[in-house]
Amino acid sequence: MQYKSTRNSKLRLEASQVIAQGISSEGGLFVPESLPNVKSDLQRLAKLNYQGLAKEIFRLFLTDFTEEQIDHCVQSAYAPEKFGGEPVRLISLTESVGRKHILELWHGPTCAFKDMALQILPYFLTVSVSKTAPDKETVILVATSGDTGKAALEGFRDVPGTRVMVFYPQDGVSPMQKRQMSTQEGGNVGVCAIEGNFDDAQTAVKKIFTDSSIKEVLAEHGFMFSSANSINWGRLLPQIVYYFYAYFKLCKGNELAIGEPMNVDVPTGNFGNILAAYYAREMGLPIKKLICASNANKVLTDFINTGIYDRRREFYTTSSPSMDILISSNLERLLYAISGEDSATLSGWMEQLSDQGHYDVGDTVRSKVREIFFGGFCDDTATARTINNTWKNDRYLVDTHTAVALDVYRQYVESEGDGSTPTVIASTASPYKFVGSVLGALEPLGDGDEFENISRLESLTGTTAPLQLKTLRDKPVRFNTSIENSQAARYVLKSLGIGE
Ligand SMILES: *Cc1c(COP(=O)(O)O)cnc(C)c1O
Repeated sequence: MQYKSTRNSKLRLEASQVIAQGISSEGGLFVPESLPNVKSDLQRLAKLNYQGLAKEIFRLFLTDFTEEQIDHCVQSAYAPEKFGGEPVRLISLTESVGRKHILELWHGPTCAFKDMALQILPYFLTVSVSKTAPDKETVILVATSGDTGKAALEGFRDVPGTRVMVFYPQDGVSPMQKRQMSTQEGGNVGVCAIEGNFDDAQTAVKKIFTDSSIKEVLAEHGFMFSSANSINWGRLLPQIVYYFYAYFKLCKGNELAIGEPMNVDVPTGNFGNILAAYYAREMGLPIKKLICASNANKVLTDFINTGIYDRRREFYTTSSPSMDILISSNLERLLYAISGEDSATLSGWMEQLSDQGHYDVGDTVRSKVREIFFGGFCDDTATARTINNTWKNDRYLVDTHTAVALDVYRQYVESEGDGSTPTVIASTASPYKFVGSVLGALEPLGDGDEFENISRLESLTGTTAPLQLKTLRDKPVRFNTSIENSQAARYVLKSLGIGE
């Protein structure tokens, strides 16, 4: 299996090269040359445990890794002690509309689904760098809307041969997310706030990546950049696994027979998690509709409905901050696949997006997108109402992002009349990670801090907060720098001891 770039179809690279490099030098994203189809193999795959399934899927894509290397990556990343048992859980909600199965993806060390990929990416990267640039120290740059940053810091902390540097929007993350990052331990980590929103942070990081003069300076000092954002193929690949796993769980629970379709519903920001579900579908997993749920920053809902991507709009800071994004990077990979892998057309759209802030994919591509995707959005009021209803009806506590997905599922059933297809709803964070918003949806908020809110939510619901959040209270703050985004490159060089 080789990889090409969305903006250069002629390129051919090995898996280790694309994981080590993160993004293609012309600004495109790496994609597999073709997707393997496992439709005829579903019966066999259904019998595997999570780790076994992960290995089977990874070996199809990481063809320049040895079996032993893949085995080591999987066993280390998904060790039971890191996830408190099975890495993911499936919970069926039986009250109210439709057939809902919540796929809890947040049992890892940082309480968000990002751990599913960021626990294994450091292992993938270490193998990849040993093959491609064994003498270099890898500098992982991360732009985060909150959860990626913490998950990357935790995944890469004290990993030999790596440094990790995280940029987050000053006022765009939850207090708990900020606290998780500012108290991060480890000798190879750095955290810095950017004065702006997530898109500003992401643009700053992308710019550093593609700046060839910075790259040269780094190379002279023995460093190379890589990315832990979902632009890195090594982030997306691990996410494909859990959609297969959830399907097989439904089959085992007699909700489905192998071959019958399910829907998948994902609260979406950068379009990474839902893209992994799309790839699973292309690989032969029976998925009928992919339901793309947005918050008030509904650029994707509008795109799916009109074929016009338009970022020229007001940016909202919402109660689901990990989805506060107007430039969903991974949509580029979907459009590349759907528009017949035409890198010239795609480059044109991406140029229009960066120059004019919008592009129009036209009727053919639009109708192909709509065949597969349903798009809907949910504002903060409806998010709070959904948290409240789900607690009242199902005695199940969801975070704000998962609530967005639940509300959009309701919209899907109402609009398409499909309440009978079992639907897997990706639950992307622990409710305690967004404790203020979740508690506030159940009862009026007092002026207590995050940790008092945790205690109140525990006693109100009888649920238990993850220990790794509760103990943040006593950890010292290590990072409180804030910079303009134009200063990001300088900050990086300075942190590496290059430049003043
Ligand atoms: C990152 C994140 C999302 C959005 O996922 P994408 O892959 O960026 O679409 C949704 N919910 C939570 C809690 C997240 O951390």
